Amino acid sequence: MTRVAFLGLGHMGLPMALNLIKAGHEVRGFDVMPAAVDAASAAGVPIAQFGVDAVAGAEVVITMFPAGRHVISAYQDELLGAADPGTLFIECSTIAVDEARTAHALAVEAGHRNVDAPVSGGVVGAENGTLAFMVGGSDEDFATALPLLEVMGKRIVHCGGPGLGQAAKVCNNMILGVSQIAVAEAFVLGERLGLEHQALFDVVSQASGQCWAITTNCPVPGPVPTSPANRDYRPGFAGALMAKDLGLALQAIEGTGTEARMGRLAQEIYAEFAAGAGAGRDFSGIITDIRDAS
Ligand code: NAD
Repeated sequence: MTRVAFLGLGHMGLPMALNLIKAGHEVRGFDVMPAAVDAASAAGVPIAQFGVDAVAGAEVVITMFPAGRHVISAYQDELLGAADPGTLFIECSTIAVDEARTAHALAVEAGHRNVDAPVSGGVVGAENGTLAFMVGGSDEDFATALPLLEVMGKRIVHCGGPGLGQAAKVCNNMILGVSQIAVAEAFVLGERLGLEHQALFDVVSQASGQCWAITTNCPVPGPVPTSPANRDYRPGFAGALMAKDLGLALQAIEGTGTEARMGRLAQEIYAEFAAGAGAGRDFSGIITDIRDAS
């Protein structure tokens, strides 16, 4: 049994915290939004009045916030000062690699331990305890975090030192954004050439164009009955989240001087998509924009 403070009880954080409680850990939760607090409390998460109260006496502090600025300010302004010396901070939000390294340095300066552990798998993965965790940090800190991550996820990869969990996440999602656009373009091209969706799916899903964007997230209704295309692109993974992640990829591309034209273009395309109705639709809904523009 580990005493865990869980901060950020939103779409992802609440089901993750509930899985820790189910596994017998002593969790104290906190969120700045009253609606999130009420939902978590009703679901059975013991709630602290303030973030500092949740953190005091905890062995591990997990954060699941919207963005890097929330992490850095919460670490600086309240959490690091309130934690017992040597507390392990597991930072699960999706944030920039540089921000993850800043958070790590702040935690270490304050006498604590820290790993970055962003996830993929979405709300369904959080509910079912089947998230994938990509972890950056020392071997020792990874080993301490692992039993808790195993409760919330089913695939946990130690990617290297501080920030490298976020690096793996940003690389993966850059591939995902580019490949979802490529698959959508191929379906629209096929339509215009007179090719049935099912025929194209039957070929590509077993050929060298095969990828998750077609076999799981197929952007046309029919071939994969569980894909968001079959429910009018209800997410799934919302366009706003893909745009956010590609923004982080762009930051990493520019920070490292990487020649990544496809990544840059995908960022542009999804920024445009998320500026309109695409924000709340699954990111595979990009096919509609491509079809409309063709
Ligand atoms: P969310 O907005 O539903 O939840 C974040 C919660 O953090 C909110 O309830 C907010 O009030 C709270 N918060 C912000 N600052 C806080 C503070 N200082 N103290 C306590 N609580 C605070 O977001 P989400 O969908 O749960 O996503 C969380 C993170 O996970 C994001 O970084 C996102 O990019 C990433 N992510 C999300 C998904 C997804 O499908 N939703 C998938 C993979 C990764």
